Amino acid sequence: MHQLTLAEIVRGLQDKQFSSEELTGALLARIADVDTRLNSFISVTGDLAIADAKAADARRAKGESDPLLGAPIAHKDLFCTEGVLTTCGSKILHNFKAPYDATVVAKLKEAGAVSLGKLNMDEFAMGSANESSHFGPVKNPWDTERVPGGSSGGSAAAVAARLIPAATGTDTGGSIRQPAALTNLTGIKPTYGRVSRWGMIAYASSLDQGGPMARTAEDCALLLGAMAGFDPKDSTSIDQPVDDYLAVLAQPLAGLRIGLPKEYFGAGLDPRIADKVMAVVEELKKLGATVKDISLPNLQHAIPAYYVIAPAEASSNLSRFDGVRFGYRCEDPKDLMDLYKRSRAEGFGDEVKRRIMVGTYALSAGYYDAYYLKAQKIRRLIKNDFVSAFEGVDVILGPTTPNLAWKLGEKGGDPVSAYLEDIYTITANLAGIPGLSMPAGFVDGLPVGVQLLGNYFQEGRLLNVAHQYQQVTDWHQQAPSGF
Ligand code: GLN
Repeated sequence: MHQLTLAEIVRGLQDKQFSSEELTGALLARIADVDTRLNSFISVTGDLAIADAKAADARRAKGESDPLLGAPIAHKDLFCTEGVLTTCGSKILHNFKAPYDATVVAKLKEAGAVSLGKLNMDEFAMGSANESSHFGPVKNPWDTERVPGGSSGGSAAAVAARLIPAATGTDTGGSIRQPAALTNLTGIKPTYGRVSRWGMIAYASSLDQGGPMARTAEDCALLLGAMAGFDPKDSTSIDQPVDDYLAVLAQPLAGLRIGLPKEYFGAGLDPRIADKVMAVVEELKKLGATVKDISLPNLQHAIPAYYVIAPAEASSNLSRFDGVRFGYRCEDPKDLMDLYKRSRAEGFGDEVKRRIMVGTYALSAGYYDAYYLKAQKIRRLIKNDFVSAFEGVDVILGPTTPNLAWKLGEKGGDPVSAYLEDIYTITANLAGIPGLSMPAGFVDGLPVGVQLLGNYFQEGRLLNVAHQYQQVTDWHQQAPSGF
């Protein structure tokens, strides 16, 4: 049963081939059996899941027919879940039970989806390898000596190893797309404002966006349809109707205009990944797409701009973790200042501290203009590059990552080399446009992802292209051996 995709599960539940309770029980047993090898879950909420599964079965028996009714999922541990541990991968929240559900969690609950637990992640979503979690690193099911990507590494490993059919993730600079690429999944970061950030613990508020991770584009469409929508509780949420993502999947690709940015194929890209990307282009041409060379001239400035803006916002967002209101508190504080200092010193890990320091520096008087303001100007140039590119093409295609999944610990002492891995993903967050990563083959037994970027609110188009590609290829169906 664990091999089924989310769409197959939906059909199985509809046709009464199995109940949600049976399915949930089977998956929980498998998680208990297998996750010791991966460390993808921080909390498994078995009793709650079985109760929710029974409730979903009862709703179905009464005639309700929401497609996700009884479908098992799990949430990145950055989404607040009422009464359930919500750690954000950090010691500072190791004992935090959220008092309310994030909008995404509430919407999926309402649709009848059953959450099996909370998934491991880089501390406060800062990272590309899931090695900065207080709860230990996550292993990549394709090679357990390698990283699964990050920061949604728990979501990626759990779905890739078939512990759950789909999961939520969040993406501030690539944290849905990059782990999806390194574990052979499909994942989409929607347009900024499409999915509510209410109850998503903030990393960099102007970049953060939640989205689905699954094996197929169809599964992502199913989940995104339930996650997306206007939320008055999030002031950056956009009041625009949600497209029917399932309905657009079948649209033919004839006439699709694909842009290939020349800057995406320069130095730094593993040539074996470049070959896979070009093979995808050839396949899409056979489906009727046309291809055009384009330029995104400000790509070279993206990493420096992102690594000023994201830490600046993080330094402000993370000031709320003070040892007073919630979370970890140091023992025997001498006075209030000592309590603040030691709770934060003991509660945050190294990468989080590094970013708080960089961000505080960039925002301080005297440096604000030189760093933060300049980074914001670059951000606008990057956005403008996309606006002009989308005048001539429908989607932009390229690699999701410059390299394959690396060995655990390999980049530990070198944060900048990890930051460079984000080169192809962060621009979508800086501009606010949607981006999708899909499986595109293997090099040395490790998955390769291809990224599709679209204009604002073109999630449907990206899912459509990925779905059509998945009708003529079977990369996305490959499973890691041993899982
Ligand atoms: N790797 C990037 C970072 O560390 C992106 C993380 C994310 O998208 N949450 O900031």
